[in-house]
Amino acid sequence: MIGQRRLLARLGERALEGDVAHAYELSGPRSIGKRTVATRLAQTLLCTSEPRVAGGCGTCLACRKVEHATHPDVRLVTRRVDLDPGGDKKMISIEQVREMQQDLALRPLEGGWRIVIVDDAADLSEHAEVALLKTLEEPPVHAVLMLLTPTPSRLLETIRSRLVPLPFRLVAAMEIAEGLATRFGPEARRYATIAAGRPGVALSLAADETARRKRRITESEFYRLVSSGLTDRFAWAVDLAESERDTQKRNEAIESRLREWSELARDAAAAAHGADRAVRPDRANETAQLVKAVSPRELVDLALSLDRWRRDVIESNVNARMLLELLVLRLPYAASLKVAA
Ligand SMILES: [Zn+2]
Repeated sequence: MIGQRRLLARLGERALEGDVAHAYELSGPRSIGKRTVATRLAQTLLCTSEPRVAGGCGTCLACRKVEHATHPDVRLVTRRVDLDPGGDKKMISIEQVREMQQDLALRPLEGGWRIVIVDDAADLSEHAEVALLKTLEEPPVHAVLMLLTPTPSRLLETIRSRLVPLPFRLVAAMEIAEGLATRFGPEARRYATIAAGRPGVALSLAADETARRKRRITESEFYRLVSSGLTDRFAWAVDLAESERDTQKRNEAIESRLREWSELARDAAAAAHGADRAVRPDRANETAQLVKAVSPRELVDLALSLDRWRRDVIESNVNARMLLELLVLRLPYAASLKVAA
């Protein structure tokens, strides 16, 4: 596990002493390790090795079942559309919550606990949330629920007040670098800074050529927009706003662009002010061109705006098309910018 070690150690040690809450709220940005910590906590509770260790031994049958999502006492509740991409179930439904509750009412089959992981809890439909409240008010004695979400503010206050909050923090680049080096060799260290505190991003960049290529394409999209006129920019905004019928997936597509672009703009703004601490040294050429074409003040404004819009996309139901049109109007213009492939 990269990062969150202190959180996990504290949780694990308490769990070993029998100090386990019935419900937790694991919150923090995507790819920061929420699902991994939930899995480790489940392993801590269900591990059959002696002496028991915080995080589980990782090798006993119970630990391996949890890892492979085949343990009968661990249930993952998630949007059906994520399991069946052709389906149209965009929220976690009340039926899913009821099924989970029936399960939870029974005694554990193999271990001492029944564990439910809800990911992303902000996807619970209104009815599902109200139904879940019943379980939180009177949880079965062997029940442990973990509600995972990057946007805890979207949960009902009555739900949140019954959860033990576990806020996740961004992980230091050095710690990510070391984790990558251990797993993939020293070459992989270079993905640590790019991940901006999120180990999940670093891991997928280090392990997956497709993730790297996708990222390059998203970055090039930014530079291409900056060098194109309003007609093309508006066409791009409409395309992206209408690209995906599933609102959440579309917002994720917008959010990831805004996040990456804000980092590109921040690099340019920092370079324009003489700082030499690029998050994306591999884009030094494009950064230099931006600095030449756009005023330092504009670059700072752009980096801040992109980051603010990104938070708007996550936290509120903004109108995607309006936001993207505003974005293309605010993007600086640098006709001469050349993008490396
Ligand atoms: Zn184990």
